[in-house]
Amino acid sequence: MVNEVEVKTYGLYINSEWVTTAETMTVQNKYTQEPAAKVAVATQAHVDQAVKFAKEALKEPFAPYERYKVLMKAAELLLARKEQFAQVLAAEVGKPIRESRGEVERAAQTLQVSAEEAKRIQGEGVPVEAAPGSENRMAFTVKVPVGVIAAITPFNVPMNLVCHKIGPALAAGNSVVLKPAEVTPICAMMLAELLQEAGLPNGRLHVLTGDGAQIGDWLLQNEDVHMYTFTGSPRVGELIRSKAGLRKVALELGNNSATVVHQDADLDKAAALISQKSFNNAGQVCISVQRIYVHEHIYESFLAKLIENTKKIVVGNPVDEKTDVGPMIRLSEAERVEAWVKEAVEQGAHIEIGGKREGSIYYPTILSNVVDDMKVCRQEVFGPVVAVATYSSEDEVIARVNDSDYGLQAGLFTNDLNFAMKAAREIEVGGLIVNDASAYRVDHMPYGGVKKSGTGKEGPKYAIEEMTEERIIVFNL
Ligand code: NAD
Repeated sequence: MVNEVEVKTYGLYINSEWVTTAETMTVQNKYTQEPAAKVAVATQAHVDQAVKFAKEALKEPFAPYERYKVLMKAAELLLARKEQFAQVLAAEVGKPIRESRGEVERAAQTLQVSAEEAKRIQGEGVPVEAAPGSENRMAFTVKVPVGVIAAITPFNVPMNLVCHKIGPALAAGNSVVLKPAEVTPICAMMLAELLQEAGLPNGRLHVLTGDGAQIGDWLLQNEDVHMYTFTGSPRVGELIRSKAGLRKVALELGNNSATVVHQDADLDKAAALISQKSFNNAGQVCISVQRIYVHEHIYESFLAKLIENTKKIVVGNPVDEKTDVGPMIRLSEAERVEAWVKEAVEQGAHIEIGGKREGSIYYPTILSNVVDDMKVCRQEVFGPVVAVATYSSEDEVIARVNDSDYGLQAGLFTNDLNFAMKAAREIEVGGLIVNDASAYRVDHMPYGGVKKSGTGKEGPKYAIEEMTEERIIVFNL
């Protein structure tokens, strides 16, 4: 029985007010499929109104130290309400509760690091006097906010990835119009409430819900938006880039992350870390391990350990403390993953463990006997499936890791310094993680990919670079 009283309706968050709309959308609990909340559906007039207020807010002072205080306070409030936010994440994403708590902690860290960076935004002295005829001049640069930033975020990490947009954008002195994913907008609305309580000035943040493609398009049509920062699929990323014209665009897109296990690797460590980092959030993580390349000399022994670790993974209800893997975001996604595994098996792959679907839950699955052209290797699975293949030489495995449309992060387990150095030079990715799987990220890192994995970097320090313009000031003395 659905208790209608508990289903809260969120309005649009425009200029620190909650604006109700005639039309609403229901956000479902991804495990029970019951309504978790209702959200408003924005029209083009709402989008334009939010952008107008965002632009006007830029005229009001919001000094770096004030930005620091607001973001630090928001992190403090968030940590005080960790359990409340984690329960919402478990419901709207289907993310296991322990992992949901981890995401809330990470979100607080992202806000804290952004706050600290707000005090470090600086230009540099420029020696113009060194140029002939400029002896009487002196110059320096300042970093100024780009202005109004449209931030569009995906469903899979809806709390922390929102903080990765609004934390640096606010720290750098911008205004933000946020469009969270349709299926997981609740945490973003709660975060807006929390930032208001933390003292964020009016008009600096707006949150719009409704049809993603439609709102995205209206944001792209609005000439007062100065920058688009997007995390999501390559398809939508390319669309945004094609419509943004000369405006700034930062894109964090997909990947089919590889992790290499070399013959000298610590196999216990590799198997434990890889099994954990392949199936977190049901594999719906952009740097989740997908392709595992194992040196042929240790293949059998590594595979046995990987299977052993994967057998221990508890699948089930996300709010159960024991659960490691919950449902995928929607039934059609679990069915797609099932179809890709079936196709791989028809092409000769073996299912070592998993290969089973119950509703929108897909069980952690290890495939062996794969070839690089199978969909499960070549495309982004974005589900709890890994493909394990063997290799015989360093050059061969580097070439196979690089034989991908994507290049976000890769992992390499080895104690061979020469191979690690060679891989660091030759693997075409935004980040190489040595002696860990591809899925390692903390907020002090520059984070972003090459090829179809995107353009621009995240991590508050690096995102602030993207979200500011460098202006040179020249004095003629
Ligand atoms: P998606 O591209 O379907 O949606 C992302 C966002 O874009 C949502 O808010 C959606 O409403 C919006 N959107 C949809 N159509 C749009 C349009 N025409 N114009 C503007 N906005 C539009 O992605 P998803 O399914 O939510 O997320 C999964 C994808 O995100 C995967 O490819 C994954 O790899 C990627 N991802 C990347 C990173 C990273 O940091 N590189 C992190 C997480 C997820």
